[in-house]
Amino acid sequence: MKRAPQLYPFSIYLSPFEIVLSQVVELIENKQEFGITTHIKPDGDGVGSSLGLYWLLRSLGKSADVIVRGEVPTAYRSLPGADDIRNIESIDRKYDAIFVIECSDLERPGIVGLDKEFTVNIDHHATSAHFGAINWIDSTASAVGEMIYNLCKAIGGRVTKEIAECVYMALVTDTGSFHFSNTTERTLKVASELVKAGVKPAAISEAVYNNYPWSRIELMRQVLDTVRRDESGKVAYLRQTLEMREAAGAVDGDNNGFVNIPLASREILAAVYMREVGPDEYRVSLRSKGDINVAKVAERFGGGGHRNAAGLRMTGDWDTAEAEIVSAMREAVERAEAIEAGDITVAPDVL
Ligand code: 5GP
Ligand code: MN
Repeated sequence: MKRAPQLYPFSIYLSPFEIVLSQVVELIENKQEFGITTHIKPDGDGVGSSLGLYWLLRSLGKSADVIVRGEVPTAYRSLPGADDIRNIESIDRKYDAIFVIECSDLERPGIVGLDKEFTVNIDHHATSAHFGAINWIDSTASAVGEMIYNLCKAIGGRVTKEIAECVYMALVTDTGSFHFSNTTERTLKVASELVKAGVKPAAISEAVYNNYPWSRIELMRQVLDTVRRDESGKVAYLRQTLEMREAAGAVDGDNNGFVNIPLASREILAAVYMREVGPDEYRVSLRSKGDINVAKVAERFGGGGHRNAAGLRMTGDWDTAEAEIVSAMREAVERAEAIEAGDITVAPDVL
């Protein structure tokens, strides 16, 4: 088997990441026609990483096709290649392999027929189901974008301006402009290389953060009116009803980041944002600071995510569901505080 150049030249053996990465490199070298997809309602990492990989494959003389179910959100439409993204409902041509970016399972893209394809799962969520023929999961990466950059280096590709802009979009959105805890020395090093390759950071930030319709402000006003704290004063929770969405004339994405707003208070250690999506049906976003593990809370309710950012679905009476998730969050805060105080000792991976 041909091996990819090692990322860590001084190690004498290949890490599991590097072994899988070399399989991805080999696949790209030996095949020609690739599809790339990501989850429905994609975020900046989903779109940025897909397009970054698209430009990388094209620069290697391969055929690549980004296929996404639904419209590309406005914030990412200025990325190079965004106009080439095909909005499809089912696989409609032959691919040698399809890269599936940032998806917890093969249903997440919402595209019929993916289960019959040779798929490569590329993700940075530890909770990903290993659904692919190849599963490249790197939970140390701040964004899949960082992995696409590593792939570009491993395959000996040049970081073109197009690749750089798309990957930078992935990094800046998944790290909350380099302020979430997933921001590492490596993230900043990659970002610096991307700027060297021609990215204008201010232009990307402008496209993402200052590019909403006025309906976002109307919606924010109503949602913020619902914000409350639990009895510990450390967990904040807020709601968005279908009625609010309607009254604001809101569009998808107008609520981006609302869950983070209460974390601006030093007293708040965790936040819950519940959004009504149907009768007695809610999408719930969880966020936390420090060692408070909200992925574990989400998993208990059938969801998942990262330590400081996770999500799930709930059904039933709103007040009851809210009380249940808020109390689970308070327990997570108390647990992290007990560990911090040395009252309980646990292995780091079960924090
Ligand atoms: P958000 O709150 O922004 O929707 O999601 C935060 C994080 O949690 C994201 O990394 C997302 O992938 C993950 N997440 C959100 N909802 C779910 C879910 O229902 N299942 C799983 N496995 N992960 C989720
Ligand atoms: Mn991501």
